[in-house]
Amino acid sequence: IGFADLALSAPIQQAIAETGYTTPTPIQAQAIPQVLAGGDLMAAAQTGTGKTAGFTLPILHLLSEAHAHNQKPGRPRCLILTPTRELAAQVEESVQTYGKHLPLTSMVMFGGVAINPQITRLKKRIDILVATPGRLLDHNTQGTIDLSGVEILVLDEADRMLDMGFIRDIKKILALLPKKRQNLLFSATFSDEIKALADGLLHNPGFVEV
Ligand code: AMP
Repeated sequence: IGFADLALSAPIQQAIAETGYTTPTPIQAQAIPQVLAGGDLMAAAQTGTGKTAGFTLPILHLLSEAHAHNQKPGRPRCLILTPTRELAAQVEESVQTYGKHLPLTSMVMFGGVAINPQITRLKKRIDILVATPGRLLDHNTQGTIDLSGVEILVLDEADRMLDMGFIRDIKKILALLPKKRQNLLFSATFSDEIKALADGLLHNPGFVEV
């Protein structure tokens, strides 16, 4: 199949073409229709499989097709959690690249850097927030982020997040999100711990494996 078969909107197809991609990778071919259909998803995929576009492309489509109920500054509609700042930066870069012809905004947030520029950024509109868990919770404590508008949650490299000891932080973040939302879980491996997390998080999920 080609990207044209995937029912992504013209501005997204254009960005894909400009990036130079001609054919969806296997994870993209499987994941994109399921995410577009609005369901929860559990995906087993390593880095290098094209997993990032597998979730960012359909998320950009969904957010640009439906207006936010209550768009306010610092109130993201999509939250993407990653284990490291490097991955967070890469994912947000992909969001920017694939969303460059859409009127959507994004922010990347991680620890180890000054918090004040992030607080300033949070005073403006953010559709897609890519964050590491610790700094996100710092902002929640300070009252500088509002997670009550999250429609789509992604846990990227969930196995690494658990390896790095983020399970308590993830549970705290989940408790701050609205109950009705779409959940996507990406992981390279599926330990019992990941399965337990998925059981608590995902509702009738589709499965994708590459
Ligand atoms: P990821 O697994 O998301 O880290 O992506 C791995 C690499 O594959 C990145 O450098 C992407 O730019 C590239 N990539 C993603 N999707 C495609 C595609 N459909 N065709 C060619 N390259 C791609």
